[in-house]
Amino acid sequence: MNIKQLLGLPDLLDVKRIICVQPHPDDNEVGAAGTLRELALRGVEIVYITVTDGSASGSTGASTPEEIIRIRESEKQAAGQLLGVTKQINLGFPDMGGYSEDDVLKKLIPIIRDEKPDMLMTVDPWMPYEAHPDHIKTGKAVATAMLFAANRIRFPEGDPHDVPQIAFYATSHPNTFIDVTAQWETKLASILAHKSQFDNAEWPMLRMYFEHQAAQLHSKLIQEQEPVQAPAGFAEAFKVLAAQQLHFFPAALYS
Ligand SMILES: [Zn+2]
Repeated sequence: MNIKQLLGLPDLLDVKRIICVQPHPDDNEVGAAGTLRELALRGVEIVYITVTDGSASGSTGASTPEEIIRIRESEKQAAGQLLGVTKQINLGFPDMGGYSEDDVLKKLIPIIRDEKPDMLMTVDPWMPYEAHPDHIKTGKAVATAMLFAANRIRFPEGDPHDVPQIAFYATSHPNTFIDVTAQWETKLASILAHKSQFDNAEWPMLRMYFEHQAAQLHSKLIQEQEPVQAPAGFAEAFKVLAAQQLHFFPAALYS
């Protein structure tokens, strides 16, 4: 049984308007920049929501949280411009702060209802060994928002909106691979736009890691499509699910 066909899930690249919710100012680029660039080139409108202000970063060289926030905001804008992001929204929660998943959910619902996306994208909060609270809270809040964006009882304000699918990046259980070979250099440039995080002595090693990981995903993709030929390239991986699969659906793990 192909659960994606059964649920009528559209292709990840066949969307019109997508909201990408990231815990920190650089997560969307690391997780999905190649795919986002491909979507932008296809005319898809891309809205970024950044949950925290990135103020816990120790690598900016700035001495005050305000200065760190300013630096990371300008890096985020530069990265978004490289990819063709249409709009950026900040929720402004403190990086590693005491906010709750419900606080994030309450801010996400009205934005989803205003923006009316046909796909949500975020980090996978159920990745084994993911220990960062901002990632766990963000991923879970987005998944819950997907379930309740159309619910008038729990959230009476605004027009209910059904989002047909959600794509998790940084996932251990991908079911969708996107060839991003043509967008690879732009992806790296967008990651490097976060100068305070990546433009340092560790970058060559990190770049090798990113390329090794993306090359492995690409060979997986090619094996699915044409097992004989295996040209080198890069891919990104996602767990794409429909709303129905986000509740009481044990098979979602293997879907
Ligand atoms: Zn992060």
